[in-house]
Amino acid sequence: MKKSMSEKIAVRLVAVGLVAMALTTLLCMVMFHSVFEKQVVRDLQLTAKDIALACERMEDSEDLGSFGGGELRITLIAPDGTVLFENQSSAPMENHLDRTEVRQALESGEGSDQRMSETLGYDTYYYAIRLSNGNVLRVATEAKNFFSIYDDAVPAVLVSCVLILLLSVLLAFFLTRQLVRPIVTMANNLDDVEKNVPYKELEPFAKAIALDQKNRQNGEKIRRDFTANVSHELKTPLTSISGYAELIETGMAKPEDIAGFAARIRKEAGRLMALVGDIIQLSELDDASEEGAGKLTMEPVDLAAVVNECVQDLQPAARKAYLVLSAQTEPVMVEGSRGLLMELCQNLCDNAIRYNRPGGKVEVTVRNVAGAAELCVKDNGIGIAPEHQQRVFERFYRVDKSRSKATGGTGLGLAIVKHIAILHNAKIELESEAGKGTSIQVIFPEQN
Ligand code: ADP
Repeated sequence: MKKSMSEKIAVRLVAVGLVAMALTTLLCMVMFHSVFEKQVVRDLQLTAKDIALACERMEDSEDLGSFGGGELRITLIAPDGTVLFENQSSAPMENHLDRTEVRQALESGEGSDQRMSETLGYDTYYYAIRLSNGNVLRVATEAKNFFSIYDDAVPAVLVSCVLILLLSVLLAFFLTRQLVRPIVTMANNLDDVEKNVPYKELEPFAKAIALDQKNRQNGEKIRRDFTANVSHELKTPLTSISGYAELIETGMAKPEDIAGFAARIRKEAGRLMALVGDIIQLSELDDASEEGAGKLTMEPVDLAAVVNECVQDLQPAARKAYLVLSAQTEPVMVEGSRGLLMELCQNLCDNAIRYNRPGGKVEVTVRNVAGAAELCVKDNGIGIAPEHQQRVFERFYRVDKSRSKATGGTGLGLAIVKHIAILHNAKIELESEAGKGTSIQVIFPEQN
């Protein structure tokens, strides 16, 4: 199942929210803790100085016990490290000379340090001052450490998480609705999709839709035109056939004409058959191109062999038209369908013979250019004027309709050639000059 857009947006918003919150919390904690720590140290320093001042005037060090209100730990240490007084423990204490703050105070008059407390989650801050009599007064206090501040923040963080979650889901819902609404409007106006693009980012998408629509409309028009053309092409021979048959049926034909009429009927029927055959072939080729060349059985075919056979077959037709038809070939392999390649060659040679003049010639060559096959059919016939050259590959396009029909053309030969070339990934190049002749080249892709 596809994920919904609001779900996706919600997940992202939650992620962004959580990361932002985590970063903010961490930064706040670091800043807060450093300010807090500085404050603790400063307070401790001031208090220590006050107590030290009082201590200087004190007769008995035991009087120190009255300071600090129980919150502060006050210790008096002799220069040799012996603890002279300690307000929070009456037990004898170990030597304090190794304490950093004490050593600093003995050396330079003042010293400070910070160590982990025995109480979990607390740090102890020490401040020590050397008195005029050489003893060291040390004051210490406990304060929450970084991690226990974090513990305090946990409930607030959790509440924020829940809030972020709720907010993200709500925001995602409304954002999605707002983002999607114009797209739905666009989808409802597909006929004019390019004028209704709500976001710049969707322009390529709209363009693709518009192009697809145009292609489809073009395709429909081509199909409609083709159907109209086919009906028209079929109707003409059928009308003649029906006319001749009627003459015979009603007895209007003289007995000696009947054989002639029958021959005409047969000729028209032959044209119909050729036409239907070409239409079937084209529709099969259309199917093949739609489903990709995969449906055709493509195999390595020697183009020279195909061309030689084709030229052999057409020799009688060439002789009948008083033409010289010749082939010059080099063996070269093409990945293709032998039947279709034969058809392509036949159609090209057929045209070169039909649109020619007595005494003319047709040369067919197959060349092997670095592993790529090139087929060329060249005639010195009537040629094609430049304005028709691009259009002769269209279905039913003829330069001279009566000549085409008189020689048994259907108007589909070159359309079939073009289709077969496309299925073989081959390129067609036409060169022609009216009155001089035509050369059509089919260039196949290189075989590896
Ligand atoms: P047709 O069945 O009419 O020959 P084609 O599709 O084979 O249909 O060719 C389309 C048109 O192209 C022809 O009617 C003809 O006018 C022109 N044509 C094709 N081949 C040649 C050629 N070798 N020389 C001159 N004209 C040609």
